[in-house]
Amino acid sequence: MCGLPGCGRAATLPRPSAKDITQLQYVSTRGKAPALGFDDALLAGLAPDGGLYVPELWPHFAEATWAELAGRPYGDVAKAVLAPLIGDAIEDEALDAIVAESYAGFGHAAVAPLKQLGPGEWLLELFHGPTLAFKDYALQLVGRLFDHVLTKRGQHVTIVGATSGDTGSAAIEACRDRNAIDVFILYPHGRVSEVQRRQMTTVAAANVHTIAVEGTFDDCQDLVKAMFADAVFRERMRLSAVNSINWARIAGQIVYYAFAALSLGAPSRKVSFAVPTGNFGNVFSAYAARRMGLPIERLVIGTNRNDILARLLTTGEMTIEGVEPTLSPSMDIQVSSNFERLLFELMGRDGAAIAAAMAQFRREGSLKLGAAQFKELTGLFAGARVDDETTLATIRRIHESTGELVDPHTAIGIRAAEARRGCSATPMVALGTAHPAKFPDAVARATGIRPPLPARLGDMMTAPERLTVLPNDLKSVQNFVRTKTGAAS
Ligand SMILES: *Cc1c(COP(=O)(O)O)cnc(C)c1O
Repeated sequence: MCGLPGCGRAATLPRPSAKDITQLQYVSTRGKAPALGFDDALLAGLAPDGGLYVPELWPHFAEATWAELAGRPYGDVAKAVLAPLIGDAIEDEALDAIVAESYAGFGHAAVAPLKQLGPGEWLLELFHGPTLAFKDYALQLVGRLFDHVLTKRGQHVTIVGATSGDTGSAAIEACRDRNAIDVFILYPHGRVSEVQRRQMTTVAAANVHTIAVEGTFDDCQDLVKAMFADAVFRERMRLSAVNSINWARIAGQIVYYAFAALSLGAPSRKVSFAVPTGNFGNVFSAYAARRMGLPIERLVIGTNRNDILARLLTTGEMTIEGVEPTLSPSMDIQVSSNFERLLFELMGRDGAAIAAAMAQFRREGSLKLGAAQFKELTGLFAGARVDDETTLATIRRIHESTGELVDPHTAIGIRAAEARRGCSATPMVALGTAHPAKFPDAVARATGIRPPLPARLGDMMTAPERLTVLPNDLKSVQNFVRTKTGAAS
């Protein structure tokens, strides 16, 4: 059945191109690592030559295939989009189950609903997952994909990560209750908000371990890096990460661009997106959707004061500056690691040139695009920098004009969309990357209203917490990981 209640339309899901590209391989942007299938690229994360995995060629759907997907439920679009990217690395039935489970607990029946903000202006709400931010949309898949591939191979991994508060819970929710995974998240003790802490510590799953480190976020990051740098420990614990450079996360995010574009009339009608951007993972997924055949006209990159990408789009030069804290902390970045994937395309997929460019960037702190590359970049992408003051003004104005409360990251997307829409008649979709209740202080400052947590998260504020406080000391943390992980026995 097509998934619509009472509709009675028997429907076989199109799995476009899957039979043509059953062996889709992933190559490294730096050109020196062996090509891998989807499953191996998933488990590897970063390529051994320091590059990021990208598809050897982009699967491309015919217009008729996209047209067949229009009006389908989110899960159907997910399966169709992911099938050619996964190839034969995961069986169809397993993928069906993984997709169904991934979005079953989401708080909105449409999974990723569109809301109209004004004429031709739309908001794509990507905060109906378990941790109220868009990362859930890919991570819910990635955790299950990891578990499936590992279980099939009889393997187990230990995921370790550090968080300043905003993103640790998405990794925890992705890995919870997965038999082949233990997950350890380090956060700075006493330096995250109560909601952020409770989102991590109230998860009642035996394979989830939340560590409050007596130190700063930088200390937590240093501890994680040191664990990975300890080759014996890394091997023995089978350390792994689910960070934003993992190809599977990019793949999982392509789905909502397709879903939104199809809802607004694609493939016969064009659509543009505005994306509040940090590591460039989310907006790169939009680029990937376009390579797969969706008629995407423009991609607007919204940044906060940490505006390395907005500057790149006006000057053609990427120059590192210090990171300043803002009201949109998930976008406070110095270097957008996923930009390397776009650079790979701009430089004609020349791995050696990318390796040289990235080495130069690391050495000199800046990288200048050639004239042709800059022209190609700005032919699709535009940038807009939105400071904290304008972010608050946007939250206030959107509330006054539509009644909607939006979080600071989302407000940057909306403002960037307005700033770069020009006089195009193409619908412009701003991405809502976090629920307003995830950043209640900023929303209250702008509107006087403190957005409540959705009811489905209600018991989080009273549920028992599980956490371990440890000193800022590598040996103590390693000992803890060793005694708690399933791989140790
Ligand atoms: C992670 C995050 C972003 C930035 O996304 P990237 O993929 O890193 O560009 C924006 N908004 C929110 C709420 C986030 O959590």
